[in-house]
Amino acid sequence: MPDTSPLSLRFVQSATRVGQLPPSPAEIAFVGRSNVGKSSLINALANRKGLAHVSNTPGRTQVVNLYELANATTFVDLPGYGYAKVSKTQRSSWQAMIEGYLLGREELVMTLVLVDGEVGPTALDLQMLEWLRASDLAHSVIATKMDKVKSSQRDTRKRDIAAKCFLERGDISWVSASKGTGIEDLRARVRLLLS
Ligand code: GDP
Repeated sequence: MPDTSPLSLRFVQSATRVGQLPPSPAEIAFVGRSNVGKSSLINALANRKGLAHVSNTPGRTQVVNLYELANATTFVDLPGYGYAKVSKTQRSSWQAMIEGYLLGREELVMTLVLVDGEVGPTALDLQMLEWLRASDLAHSVIATKMDKVKSSQRDTRKRDIAAKCFLERGDISWVSASKGTGIEDLRARVRLLLS
Protein backbone atom coordinates (compact mmCIF):
# COMPACT_ATOMS: atom_id res chain seq x y z
CA MET A 1 0.00 0.00 0.00
CA PRO A 2 1.42 3.43 -0.87
CA ASP A 3 2.04 5.80 2.01
CA THR A 4 -0.54 8.58 1.74
CA SER A 5 0.03 10.11 5.17
CA PRO A 6 0.89 13.83 5.39
CA LEU A 7 4.38 14.71 4.20
CA SER A 8 6.65 15.84 6.95
CA LEU A 9 7.79 19.16 5.50
CA ARG A 10 10.13 21.63 7.15
CA PHE A 11 10.73 25.13 5.83
CA VAL A 12 14.45 25.52 5.24
CA GLN A 13 15.06 28.91 3.64
CA SER A 14 14.11 31.50 1.06
CA ALA A 15 16.52 32.43 -1.69
CA THR A 16 16.66 34.89 -4.54
CA ARG A 17 19.20 32.93 -6.58
CA VAL A 18 19.65 29.23 -7.35
CA GLY A 19 23.24 29.45 -6.20
CA GLN A 20 22.01 30.14 -2.67
CA LEU A 21 20.19 26.82 -2.42
CA PRO A 22 21.92 24.00 -0.54
CA PRO A 23 22.49 20.67 -2.27
CA SER A 24 19.64 18.13 -2.15
CA PRO A 25 19.41 14.42 -3.01
CA ALA A 26 16.33 15.09 -5.18
CA GLU A 27 13.95 17.98 -5.64
CA ILE A 28 10.45 18.74 -6.95
CA ALA A 29 9.60 22.27 -8.08
CA PHE A 30 6.12 23.82 -7.86
CA VAL A 31 5.29 26.49 -10.38
CA GLY A 32 2.14 28.35 -11.41
CA ARG A 33 0.54 31.73 -11.71
CA SER A 34 -0.10 33.80 -8.59
CA ASN A 35 -3.23 32.71 -6.77
CA VAL A 36 -3.36 29.29 -8.42
CA GLY A 37 -3.37 27.65 -4.99
CA LYS A 38 0.29 26.66 -4.69
CA SER A 39 0.72 27.54 -1.01
CA SER A 40 -2.59 25.87 -0.14
CA LEU A 41 -1.50 22.71 -1.96
CA ILE A 42 1.85 22.55 -0.15
CA ASN A 43 0.04 23.05 3.16
CA ALA A 44 -2.45 20.29 2.27
CA LEU A 45 0.35 17.87 1.36
CA ALA A 46 1.83 18.46 4.81
CA ASN A 47 -1.55 18.79 6.50
CA ARG A 48 -0.31 21.98 8.14
CA LYS A 49 -2.17 25.23 7.76
CA GLY A 50 0.54 27.81 8.20
CA LEU A 51 3.54 26.15 6.54
CA ALA A 52 3.48 27.89 3.17
CA HIS A 53 2.11 31.39 3.26
CA VAL A 54 -1.35 31.67 1.69
CA SER A 55 -1.15 35.11 0.24
CA ASN A 56 -3.82 37.74 0.00
CA THR A 57 -1.45 39.87 -2.05
CA PRO A 58 -0.66 37.81 -5.12
CA GLY A 59 2.69 38.36 -6.73
CA ARG A 60 4.37 39.65 -3.62
CA THR A 61 6.80 36.80 -3.14
CA GLN A 62 9.71 36.99 -5.52
CA VAL A 63 11.74 34.41 -3.68
CA VAL A 64 12.23 30.72 -3.99
CA ASN A 65 11.11 28.86 -0.86
CA LEU A 66 12.81 25.61 0.02
CA TYR A 67 11.20 22.84 2.10
CA GLU A 68 12.78 19.62 3.28
CA LEU A 69 11.05 16.25 3.56
CA ALA A 70 11.86 13.55 6.11
CA ASN A 71 14.39 11.84 3.81
CA ALA A 72 16.22 15.16 3.20
CA THR A 73 14.84 15.52 -0.32
CA THR A 74 13.30 18.90 -1.11
CA PHE A 75 10.43 20.92 -2.53
CA VAL A 76 11.03 24.25 -4.16
CA ASP A 77 8.15 26.69 -4.26
CA LEU A 78 8.85 29.07 -7.14
CA PRO A 79 7.35 32.57 -7.14
CA GLY A 80 3.98 32.82 -8.90
CA TYR A 81 3.83 34.44 -12.31
CA GLY A 82 1.26 36.46 -14.17
CA TYR A 83 0.44 39.05 -11.58
CA ALA A 84 -0.74 42.06 -13.57
CA LYS A 85 0.64 44.75 -11.32
CA VAL A 86 4.33 43.91 -11.60
CA SER A 87 6.63 46.04 -13.72
CA LYS A 88 8.34 44.83 -16.88
CA THR A 89 11.66 44.78 -15.03
CA GLN A 90 10.20 42.67 -12.24
CA ARG A 91 8.71 40.32 -14.79
CA SER A 92 11.98 39.79 -16.60
CA SER A 93 13.87 39.29 -13.34
CA TRP A 94 11.24 36.70 -12.40
CA GLN A 95 11.76 34.93 -15.70
CA ALA A 96 15.53 34.95 -15.36
CA MET A 97 15.26 33.52 -11.85
CA ILE A 98 12.84 30.74 -12.77
CA GLU A 99 14.66 29.77 -15.94
CA GLY A 100 18.01 29.90 -14.17
CA TYR A 101 16.68 27.63 -11.47
CA LEU A 102 14.94 25.13 -13.76
CA LEU A 103 17.89 24.83 -16.13
CA GLY A 104 20.60 24.97 -13.51
CA ARG A 105 19.30 22.83 -10.66
CA GLU A 106 20.73 19.37 -11.20
CA GLU A 107 18.74 17.90 -8.31
CA LEU A 108 15.43 18.65 -10.02
CA VAL A 109 13.50 15.45 -10.79
CA MET A 110 10.08 16.93 -11.61
CA THR A 111 8.38 20.26 -12.12
CA LEU A 112 4.73 20.33 -11.11
CA VAL A 113 2.90 22.98 -13.11
CA LEU A 114 -0.23 24.11 -11.28
CA VAL A 115 -3.14 25.22 -13.42
CA ASP A 116 -6.30 26.72 -11.96
CA GLY A 117 -8.98 24.09 -12.54
CA GLU A 118 -11.72 26.68 -12.43
CA VAL A 119 -10.06 29.16 -14.79
CA GLY A 120 -8.22 26.71 -17.05
CA PRO A 121 -4.69 27.23 -18.41
CA THR A 122 -3.72 30.86 -19.03
CA ALA A 123 -1.45 31.99 -21.86
CA LEU A 124 1.44 32.12 -19.38
CA ASP A 125 0.71 28.56 -18.19
CA LEU A 126 0.84 27.37 -21.78
CA GLN A 127 4.08 29.29 -22.37
CA MET A 128 5.59 27.66 -19.31
CA LEU A 129 4.56 24.19 -20.52
CA GLU A 130 5.94 24.85 -23.97
CA TRP A 131 9.21 26.09 -22.49
CA LEU A 132 9.52 23.02 -20.23
CA ARG A 133 8.85 20.75 -23.20
CA ALA A 134 11.37 22.56 -25.38
CA SER A 135 13.93 22.44 -22.57
CA ASP A 136 13.36 18.71 -22.14
CA LEU A 137 12.54 19.05 -18.45
CA ALA A 138 10.28 16.48 -16.77
CA HIS A 139 6.98 18.07 -15.83
CA SER A 140 3.44 17.25 -14.90
CA VAL A 141 0.23 19.28 -14.67
CA ILE A 142 -1.86 19.59 -11.51
CA ALA A 143 -5.27 21.24 -11.83
CA THR A 144 -6.21 23.01 -8.59
CA LYS A 145 -9.47 24.07 -6.91
CA MET A 146 -11.45 21.07 -8.16
CA ASP A 147 -14.19 21.91 -5.64
CA LYS A 148 -14.90 25.11 -7.57
CA VAL A 149 -15.91 23.20 -10.70
CA LYS A 150 -19.48 21.87 -10.59
CA SER A 151 -19.49 18.09 -10.67
CA SER A 152 -21.68 18.17 -13.80
CA GLN A 153 -18.95 20.15 -15.58
CA ARG A 154 -15.89 18.26 -14.40
CA ASP A 155 -15.66 15.82 -17.30
CA THR A 156 -15.85 18.57 -19.90
CA ARG A 157 -13.41 20.72 -17.95
CA LYS A 158 -10.90 17.89 -17.62
CA ARG A 159 -11.08 17.22 -21.34
CA ASP A 160 -10.78 20.91 -22.13
CA ILE A 161 -7.75 21.55 -19.92
CA ALA A 162 -5.98 18.44 -21.23
CA ALA A 163 -6.58 19.48 -24.84
CA LYS A 164 -5.29 23.01 -24.24
CA CYS A 165 -2.16 21.62 -22.55
CA PHE A 166 -1.66 19.04 -25.36
CA LEU A 167 -2.00 16.23 -22.83
CA GLU A 168 -4.22 13.20 -22.31
CA ARG A 169 -6.92 13.53 -19.68
CA GLY A 170 -5.19 10.99 -17.44
CA ASP A 171 -1.96 13.02 -17.50
CA ILE A 172 -3.49 15.73 -15.36
CA SER A 173 -4.00 15.31 -11.61
CA TRP A 174 -6.96 17.11 -10.11
CA VAL A 175 -6.76 18.38 -6.54
CA SER A 176 -8.72 20.42 -4.09
CA ALA A 177 -6.67 21.72 -1.19
CA SER A 178 -9.88 22.84 0.52
CA LYS A 179 -11.67 19.50 0.30
CA GLY A 180 -8.63 17.24 0.30
CA THR A 181 -9.47 15.68 -3.08
CA GLY A 182 -6.48 14.11 -4.81
CA ILE A 183 -4.12 15.05 -1.99
CA GLU A 184 -3.42 11.49 -0.83
CA ASP A 185 -2.65 10.37 -4.38
CA LEU A 186 -0.30 13.29 -4.85
CA ARG A 187 1.50 12.51 -1.59
CA ALA A 188 2.07 8.95 -2.76
CA ARG A 189 3.33 10.22 -6.12
CA VAL A 190 5.70 12.68 -4.48
CA ARG A 191 7.08 9.96 -2.22
CA LEU A 192 7.71 7.75 -5.23
CA LEU A 193 9.43 10.55 -7.16
CA LEU A 194 11.65 11.44 -4.23
CA SER A 195 12.40 7.95 -2.94
P1 GDP B 1 -0.74 30.85 -4.38
O1 GDP B 1 -0.66 32.34 -4.64
O2 GDP B 1 -0.60 30.06 -5.63
O3 GDP B 1 0.18 30.37 -3.30
O4 GDP B 1 -2.24 30.56 -3.94
P2 GDP B 1 -2.86 30.42 -2.47
O5 GDP B 1 -2.60 29.06 -1.92
O6 GDP B 1 -2.41 31.59 -1.67
O7 GDP B 1 -4.41 30.47 -2.81
C1 GDP B 1 -4.99 31.57 -3.49
C2 GDP B 1 -6.46 31.66 -3.13
O8 GDP B 1 -7.15 30.50 -3.61
C3 GDP B 1 -6.70 31.69 -1.63
O9 GDP B 1 -7.78 32.56 -1.37
C4 GDP B 1 -7.05 30.26 -1.29
O10 GDP B 1 -7.88 30.14 -0.15
C5 GDP B 1 -7.78 29.82 -2.56
N1 GDP B 1 -7.64 28.35 -2.77
C6 GDP B 1 -6.50 27.66 -2.82
N2 GDP B 1 -6.74 26.34 -3.03
C7 GDP B 1 -8.09 26.21 -3.11
C8 GDP B 1 -8.97 25.08 -3.31
O11 GDP B 1 -8.58 23.92 -3.46
N3 GDP B 1 -10.30 25.36 -3.35
C9 GDP B 1 -10.80 26.62 -3.20
N4 GDP B 1 -12.12 26.79 -3.26
N5 GDP B 1 -10.00 27.69 -3.00
C10 GDP B 1 -8.66 27.49 -2.95
